[in-house]
Amino acid sequence: MSELLNVEDIFASKVFTLGKMKERLPKGVFKEVKKVMEQGGELSLAAADVVAKAMKDWAVENGATHYTHWFQPLTGITAEKHDAFVTHPDAEGRMLMEFSGKELIKGEPDASSFPSGGLRATFEARGYTAWDITSPAFLKEDATGVILCIPTAFCSYKGEALDKKTPLLRSMEAVSQQALRIVRLFGNTEATKVVASVGPEQEYFLVDRQKYLQRKDLIFAGRTLFGAPAPKGQELEDHYFGTIRERIGAYMKDLNVELWKLGVTAKTQHNEVAPAQHELAPIYETANIAVDHNQLVMETMKKVAGRHGMTCLLHEKPFAGVNGSGKHNNWSLGTDNGVNLLDPGDTPNENIQFLLVLACILKAVDTHADLLRQSASDVGNDHRLGANEAPPAIISVFLGEQLEDVVKQLVETGQAEHSIQGGKLMTGVSTLPDLVKDATDRNRTSPFAFTGNKFEFRMVGSADSIASPNTTLNAIVAEAFCEAADVLEKAENFDAAVHDLIKEYLTEHQRIIFNGNGYAEEWVKEAERRGLPNIKSMVEAVETLTTDKAIALFEKFGIFTKAELESRAEVLYETYSKTINIEALTMLDMAKKEILPAVIRYTKTVADTVLAVKEAGADASVQEDLLKAVSGKLAEARAALLKLEEVENAAGSIESQKELAFYYKDVVRKAMDELRAPVDALEMLVDKKVWPFPTYGDLIFEV
Ligand code: ADP
Ligand code: MG
Repeated sequence: MSELLNVEDIFASKVFTLGKMKERLPKGVFKEVKKVMEQGGELSLAAADVVAKAMKDWAVENGATHYTHWFQPLTGITAEKHDAFVTHPDAEGRMLMEFSGKELIKGEPDASSFPSGGLRATFEARGYTAWDITSPAFLKEDATGVILCIPTAFCSYKGEALDKKTPLLRSMEAVSQQALRIVRLFGNTEATKVVASVGPEQEYFLVDRQKYLQRKDLIFAGRTLFGAPAPKGQELEDHYFGTIRERIGAYMKDLNVELWKLGVTAKTQHNEVAPAQHELAPIYETANIAVDHNQLVMETMKKVAGRHGMTCLLHEKPFAGVNGSGKHNNWSLGTDNGVNLLDPGDTPNENIQFLLVLACILKAVDTHADLLRQSASDVGNDHRLGANEAPPAIISVFLGEQLEDVVKQLVETGQAEHSIQGGKLMTGVSTLPDLVKDATDRNRTSPFAFTGNKFEFRMVGSADSIASPNTTLNAIVAEAFCEAADVLEKAENFDAAVHDLIKEYLTEHQRIIFNGNGYAEEWVKEAERRGLPNIKSMVEAVETLTTDKAIALFEKFGIFTKAELESRAEVLYETYSKTINIEALTMLDMAKKEILPAVIRYTKTVADTVLAVKEAGADASVQEDLLKAVSGKLAEARAALLKLEEVENAAGSIESQKELAFYYKDVVRKAMDELRAPVDALEMLVDKKVWPFPTYGDLIFEV
């Protein structure tokens, strides 16, 4: 029998929850904390001192020696610098562990080495971290000991965002304010805010650590840069939802326990489509907490894998030819008095509100399809989007049969009198349709699908932070709500005005709706005919951030300034170039030091055999053919290697970050592909024993 696991007891045991604060804080201070959490504003220094002491006492009781302001710079991962609670010893040499309110609220890490896209150079070198009181502090335990982690935002001296958290928090405020205007129009006077909720489904691969360590590409790039396909792939579909093997099961169990302790509601686990691929989904929660928790999920996945002799690969495309990994970002908006704006609801009033919200979201997604596409781009995701798996690079919205029919009726006749399928909900307005609950069907090829009471944004990359996609979603929807509220608040006849506005938005933006197969070639042509953007790569997506349209949107709601957007664009170009540069150098290294030498040794063996067989008077034509084939591919590989080296060297003379990124995308990546092809062919030709590292078959079928 395995040890009894009490999930209720261990859940959030490493989190300084609201419950723990209530227990440990004086009533007045607790009330102040709750107020700031709910309504924003700043904690008084006196209260912060009390909170800091309680937090430190709890942390120390649980073995903590250090604290850190945990933040999310533009690297896409998290950063931490540990400080011990240690203070000056007193006259008798005794030391008391301390932690002040000031230390809790604000930090000043020497953060000059984080990407800032020129922001810090222009203004001020220092970066500051500020406590995000709405995301609870937690304890991280590893070989370093126990560290108290305080989730923070990271800004420059003048308050420019240097991280992913700050704009997200700003966008949550913006969408809350604008959505409140909408629900007020429908008579909801109780709600005080509207919360964006997110449930990210995380895909990942597990490979054996010993094999991983033999592959420089996995070590340096997180993905294979060479590798011929294994005889078997995912064609039998025998892995998806398949029985979980013991080794993987033990990993998942351990992972769940670690996550539960951190207050992450790890809920669903299953095998994914590709061999060695799996998925974990938590229960949805407030967007900024979901972003923090997703970072913890990714980090914990890697950490726990080590304990089980495995390595977790979060890259979007670790292996060519088998499915890559993504992150389905489920997103919805709900009032603090319990109304999900994306749920059709039970009353006529809610149904009309739902249709307006839907129309606004369609308008937002159509108007800013380019920005949404950008928000889901990262270097690794270029291998997925538009590559006939996962969603295409073209943004469209899947509504399902019922809603699409409703939209069609509204657009064509101005009214929708019927709704297909049973179980109707009444709108009570003759010109608006009655909706059916739970009539959503599934379309796995859509990048942005309505799934009953939420939208599922399926483009996001598995290794990427989900902060950007949610910042963009909140921002574009805030804008649409704002424009709708501007019209409706002034309307004399509200019912008529809502009806007209819904019809207008649906008519103008119906081109974004697509319920068909998003992987089909015809859709690419159809989308082009509709004028929908098809942005093929991360590099091409960068400039969507600095269009007049984008600057106007983000500045209007105080989410990004123009300077912040420009700096982000710069960081993205730089990140792209640096990543491809590492990949190219890794390929050169592997080809020169491992692959070519192994193949050259092999040709000698075959050549010796040819001579020996001939000398023995037998037919050596098979051996000769093999030798010729291998030598031919070897020559191709060598030429491609020299070419890659040449284009790599030439990159040094390009100064503009944008130009350099395009150079890496168009020139260097092409040269990389040209080196890979003959090497993969060689892998298929030579004796398995001479191949210098584990193959695809070894990696994904023998975990
Ligand atoms: P699917 O519908 O994709 O098969 P689930 O219903 O299990 O799967 O949901 C997937 C993710 O969506 C989970 O993280 C879940 O908590 C989240 N989710 C469910 N409802 C909402 C909602 N209203 N808003 C945001 N996320 C949600
Ligand atoms: Mg899903």
